[in-house]
Amino acid sequence: KCLRKPVKPVDLREMLANRPRPQSAIAREELALGIEARELVLFYQPKIEVATGAVSSAEALVRWNNGRRGLIFPGSFIPLAETSGLMSTMTDMVLDQALFDRAAWGALGFSPAVAVNLSASALVDLDLPDRVGASLHKHGVPASALILEVTEASAMRDTRSSMDVLTRLRIKGAGVSIDDFGTGYSSLAELHRLPFTELKIDRSFTMEIHHDKDSRIIVDAIIRMAHAMGLRVVAEGVETAEQLRILADMECDAAQGYHFCRAVPYDKFIAFLESREPAFADRVISP
Ligand code: C2E
Ligand code: MG
Ligand code: MG
Ligand code: MG
Repeated sequence: KCLRKPVKPVDLREMLANRPRPQSAIAREELALGIEARELVLFYQPKIEVATGAVSSAEALVRWNNGRRGLIFPGSFIPLAETSGLMSTMTDMVLDQALFDRAAWGALGFSPAVAVNLSASALVDLDLPDRVGASLHKHGVPASALILEVTEASAMRDTRSSMDVLTRLRIKGAGVSIDDFGTGYSSLAELHRLPFTELKIDRSFTMEIHHDKDSRIIVDAIIRMAHAMGLRVVAEGVETAEQLRILADMECDAAQGYHFCRAVPYDKFIAFLESREPAFADRVISP
């Protein structure tokens, strides 16, 4: 008796049509054209107050809506933008769109600030604070409704220039956040010389707190030290209720992650805000 399963005949044409297409490397020209064609779109991911559940701000995360390749994530084009001189144009466009969107949700009566990521090259761009000021003015958004996120590695690359750029952004009234804290080699003591208002604990620590005692000790120490320095603390990458509970016990100020919401397009973000404040949404919608 033959136990072999009948073999489905192979349709070569179908196989060829469905084969994963090898993605060629993105060329500078392709990215430059995409930027010019306004193919960059912003998704938003909320940061939630741990104590109250309120949405304190929303981080703008850029995606490239490329007709041929589909939706491209920042990891695949930010490094190219950074090394090919396209980053400052991209930063200006992201800022402009983020402040446009912040003005729009402000007009709907929602108060969360908008957070924009800055790359290392933005911190040696001495004109940036003035351009940020002009963009705030253009959209009628108060500086207090804007947060700039920079990684510790970017901030420490040229500390004099970072100090200059970040201080002038702070003087205007914008918030400044240390992103992905814990992934670099800088100490909080070094970072404390820069005018930060917020510290985001990297996802790699949050991921471990529910099953690893060392991670809990580190996160607890970071929170305590950051608080002593007057910084608000946000935990990145919160995916479970258990992680959130541990962070609440540690008096972490805010949390961000898939447990609450992924990065979503503008309309979905507004729907999220409305779902968090149903009574409020009713008031706005009803005549
Ligand atoms: P980031 O600023 O640390 O952003 C957080 C990243 O983690 C985002 O990925 C987000 O979608 C993802 N994430 C958030 N919550 C969770 C979670 O609970 N679990 C998991 N597994 N992941 C989570 P994304 O959007 O791919 O962004 C990657 C990085 O690209 C950002 O890291 C940021 O450094 C950079 N980036 C994004 N937008 C911009 C931008 O407009 N300008 C610059 N210069 N960099 C940007
Ligand atoms: Mg960020
Ligand atoms: Mg981050
Ligand atoms: Mg991170």
